[in-house]
Amino acid sequence: KLSKRLQQIADLVPNGARLADIGSDHALLPVHLAERGMIAFAVAGEVNEGPLRAASKQVCEAGLTERIDVRLGDGLAVIRPGEVDVITIAGMGGALIVSILSAGLPKLEGVRTLILQPNVGEEAVRRWLVDHGWFLAKEHILEEDGKIYEILTAMRVPNAEKANVELYAPRQLAPSVTASPDRLLQMGPYLLEQASDTFIHKWLLELEKMERICAQLALSEAEASRRKEAELREYIAETEDIL
Ligand code: SAM
Repeated sequence: KLSKRLQQIADLVPNGARLADIGSDHALLPVHLAERGMIAFAVAGEVNEGPLRAASKQVCEAGLTERIDVRLGDGLAVIRPGEVDVITIAGMGGALIVSILSAGLPKLEGVRTLILQPNVGEEAVRRWLVDHGWFLAKEHILEEDGKIYEILTAMRVPNAEKANVELYAPRQLAPSVTASPDRLLQMGPYLLEQASDTFIHKWLLELEKMERICAQLALSEAEASRRKEAELREYIAETEDIL
């Protein structure tokens, strides 16, 4: 049985996908989908030997070597142009996800759906999507084992070169929310609009963390600490307003 996090990602993979799961570790996601006949085939990419062996073993034991190709390589280097139409990248930092996508830009031609689950640094991922002609189509947030995860699903903007990319900017996705474009990218336009309990919980925890930093800064006499504290106070107040 998949974790709640991987199950949510699995649910987002379109039926019949030609999938690449990058950083697949034990290949749990592609194995789960292939066992249920939900995907045409999958590439399970891994940059590290240990996880690669684990993935191969898992695929072998499930009798799925015909459907899932386990490949060693960095990011999107494991896929050939046009080979897949859906890519999942889950369980790593947002900065790493962005660097994988940027390094593999030519491989994204023909890819229609990206399902990305950064453990941290969601803002960098949203910014990359908006800057590279992708439309943020859905956002999910969930809590499991005391951790909060966000899952971002993006589709290609049709005729990206010609389209008015502004039209796809987060502002349009959350018309009723009063946050700045930067704040929308940071907190997530759909997540803000839905304002689920988990989302509110995430940001209340974040505010608590900020308060603790403020309290630390308040102990210092230094001019720089004063300034930093004032900035942080403003940020906290703004976040409270948004919530
Ligand atoms: N995707 C699975 C999940 O969400 O449960 C596994 C996540 S695991 C924490 C992250 C995996 O990404 C590790 O197995 C690691 O070896 C792999 N990884 C890290 N950088 C990578 C890269 N540049 N290309 C491919 N895989 C990478």
